[in-house]
Amino acid sequence: MVNEIINESIKEKKQKLLKFKRNMLYFRWTILVFTIPAFLFDSEFPVSKNFVYLTLLLTILYNSIISLLIAFKKPEKIKKDVGFVFYTDVLLVCFISYILGGIESDIFIVLFFIIAYYGMSRDIASIVNITIFTISMYSLFTLGAERSRLNEFHYWKLISRNLFMLITAYGISLLITEVKKYDEMHKREFKLARTDKLTGLANRHYFDQKLEEEALYSDYTGKPLNILMFDIDNFKKFNDTYGHMWGDKLLSIFGEIVMQNIRKTDIPFRYGGEEFILLISDLDISTVKGIGDRIRSQLEKQNFNIGDENTKCKVTVSCGIAQYPTHSKDIKEAINCADKALYYAKEIGKNIVVTYDEIGKLRETVQIDIDTYLSN
Ligand code: GH3
Ligand code: MG
Ligand code: MG
Repeated sequence: MVNEIINESIKEKKQKLLKFKRNMLYFRWTILVFTIPAFLFDSEFPVSKNFVYLTLLLTILYNSIISLLIAFKKPEKIKKDVGFVFYTDVLLVCFISYILGGIESDIFIVLFFIIAYYGMSRDIASIVNITIFTISMYSLFTLGAERSRLNEFHYWKLISRNLFMLITAYGISLLITEVKKYDEMHKREFKLARTDKLTGLANRHYFDQKLEEEALYSDYTGKPLNILMFDIDNFKKFNDTYGHMWGDKLLSIFGEIVMQNIRKTDIPFRYGGEEFILLISDLDISTVKGIGDRIRSQLEKQNFNIGDENTKCKVTVSCGIAQYPTHSKDIKEAINCADKALYYAKEIGKNIVVTYDEIGKLRETVQIDIDTYLSN
């Protein structure tokens, strides 16, 4: 899940899918409004004007139904659920080609666009399938309907058209393979640059990038952005007692605990050495405090068997929470507010979650002696 967040945020992904959905609608209507009527009216084959109008009307009706189907589908389901539409499109074009004189009509060119458009948004297997389907249907409609009219020259024409469709599909497959290769390479580098190696969470570099973006999103939606700042308690002592390797292990376990307690849209970062920041939008501060406390208590309950089974120790974490723009209209200042709340949490005894509003209002909690605490 965290990889998903680092690769491409959920919001970015949604925007991309929405764009695909919009493009698909535009593309279909453009083909219908400009291309199909052009072929219909420009045909040299003798069909009555009424027949042409009827065909156009039925095509518009068909596209309206498909458009409604696309419009009401969730963007993330479009690719999977409406793939069959490309196949019905092929059938429609083959049918129009048939009424416009089969081999004589140039409307088969639209089939190239369908193969190309369908192929570009999918994988090689899909291109192979749609190409086989298109070639079979186009040949069937052309041969079946007009066998008596077809001469040798026509047969060669049909074969060469099918051959060109194959070449187009092959070209697109090559293109897709290349694009995918670079895309994956780019994604891998992109992810690496944004990931903290030890915990697998997003790193400080990505945090600096993402913060402004999240603040803008909060301004735009009018929903607050919660900043939770965690800092492992007495981590230096832990390192000194058990060694750096166990310190690293503890950081990675804490990262996992954070991941177990958040939604897909929340973004966790390793902010610094043993400091973590979690950005949560849309929720009120008391709910967010509950989430922070769940994380805190899960770490407290976690048993660390260091070295042999008998060496058990407990570790705690403190958390400060602030909300943008409630506590500051400047996002950097809001981070400072979370830091102040965290500082206060440390001051009153650690192992506690404190919101910015609670600073100065909480009583000191019992400070556990660190040596007995670590040996427990
Ligand atoms: P407090 O409860 O007030 O937060 O005390 P603390 O000891 O946790 O805080 P302090 O800032 O004094 O110490 C943080 C320590 O974290 C010091 C540093 O050696 C250790 N540290 C920072 N990054 C890493 C890391 O990647 N791995 C390990 N093992 N230790 C780290
Ligand atoms: Mg610290
Ligand atoms: Mg610390």
